[in-house]
Amino acid sequence: MSKIEWTERTWNPVVGCVKVSPGCKHCYAETMSRRLQAMGTSGYENGFKLSLVPSRLEQPTLRRKPTMYFVNSMSDLFQSGVSFSYIDQVMDVIKKTPQHTYQILTKRSQRMASYFENHAVPKNAWLGVSVEDKKYGKRRIKDLQSIDADTRFLSAEPLLEDLGELYLAGIHWVIVGGESGAGARPMREKWVLNIRDQCQKSDVKFFFKQWGAWGNDGVKRNKKSNGRELQGRLWDTIPAMAM
Ligand code: SF4
Repeated sequence: MSKIEWTERTWNPVVGCVKVSPGCKHCYAETMSRRLQAMGTSGYENGFKLSLVPSRLEQPTLRRKPTMYFVNSMSDLFQSGVSFSYIDQVMDVIKKTPQHTYQILTKRSQRMASYFENHAVPKNAWLGVSVEDKKYGKRRIKDLQSIDADTRFLSAEPLLEDLGELYLAGIHWVIVGGESGAGARPMREKWVLNIRDQCQKSDVKFFFKQWGAWGNDGVKRNKKSNGRELQGRLWDTIPAMAM
């Protein structure tokens, strides 16, 4: 099982990555990859350096129970070092396991859009982009909106500033979360409420994942504060799985 609140399992046929924007600063996958490398875990021999792991491609085919998979929690499927032919292999597995739903999240939205110009999006794949700030994050939304997918989502985590007005046409789900760990950057409640209110107006499902290292009072906690309540309640709606 995954510890990530909005999925069930992770599937990592690619590991390792290169940082592209401020949301990458304290990349969890980087820290975890180095730890797994030190422990001698198979697949992490190169640490956080991009590595394809074809031996993992068939993993979801071995599981019959309908499962929500987060694809490449330890990497970014659409980085330039992953060939379109390898992405084809990932999509083939997705297509031949219709019992599962796959969440594919990227910061390389342009490359994702280029790939899907010539490939149909599998019905059971949800496509998402990270929107951590205005400068790098918001332009990814347009790329996502240009793709003909049944379910499109945004991940505003770690949310680094007020995103202002969002154009949410064709967006089905938004996840918001604060940053955790040493050096975490604070997230303000009003930034979160701005997104929540726009989701409510546009009938977009809203998921508040966590505050992160900072409380909603703006005070940094000594240890990880994983509070999940926003204005006294949980916000954890999620789109229906395509079945
Ligand atoms: S794109 Fe994702 S996996 Fe890659 S460095 Fe940034 S946060 Fe880490």
